[in-house]
Amino acid sequence: MQGLLLVISGPSGAGKGTICRALREKMPEVGYSISATTRPPRPGEKDGESYFFLDRERFLQMLKEGAFLEWAEVYGELYGTPRKPVEEALARGQDIILEIDTQGAAQVKRYYPEGVFIFIVPPSYSELEKRIKGRGTESPAAIKDRLAWVKKEMAQLDLYDYVVINDQVEEAVAKIQAIIIAEKCRTKRL
Ligand code: 5GP
Repeated sequence: MQGLLLVISGPSGAGKGTICRALREKMPEVGYSISATTRPPRPGEKDGESYFFLDRERFLQMLKEGAFLEWAEVYGELYGTPRKPVEEALARGQDIILEIDTQGAAQVKRYYPEGVFIFIVPPSYSELEKRIKGRGTESPAAIKDRLAWVKKEMAQLDLYDYVVINDQVEEAVAKIQAIIIAEKCRTKRL
């Protein structure tokens, strides 16, 4: 049976990164797509682990070659999902998670309408602001941009099958695990 394609989106600061890391530990059998990006690495981020860090020229070259399943410009930087690892995982029956923004999710939906689309939201706008500021990795201008973008992202909720409020990380992870397990039991997938 073909693997399950899972898309996880949510505004910056919703805790997607933390949730996905925890999910990886709990469900190591699930694949995790590594995106390419033109944004510079944050401290502690390793090339080929968090992202493939590319310069703009290389990214645009790959785009021209059709190497991305989807791509988008987010906060002035380019992000894309390398197509091949996703197709290969699905073909060998492995489930794979894409952590991408709403623009990318809309593109993926066109190719994989059977995918499972999950939107993660923070418990409140003020909590979100606190988390983004607390991370301490973005400049004040970048923080402002991210908070403005959040409002746009939230308007895309219609595209998603599930919404998970990230109040307590462990609870949110348990919910996503439950979604994955349930989706794999669907009669429609047989
Ligand atoms: P960050 O720079 O904080 O790691 O990610 C910024 C935003 O880009 C997040 O909303 C994240 O989900 C999104 N993103 C990361 N990788 C991809 C990708 O491959 N495609 C798209 N469309 N968005 C991505």
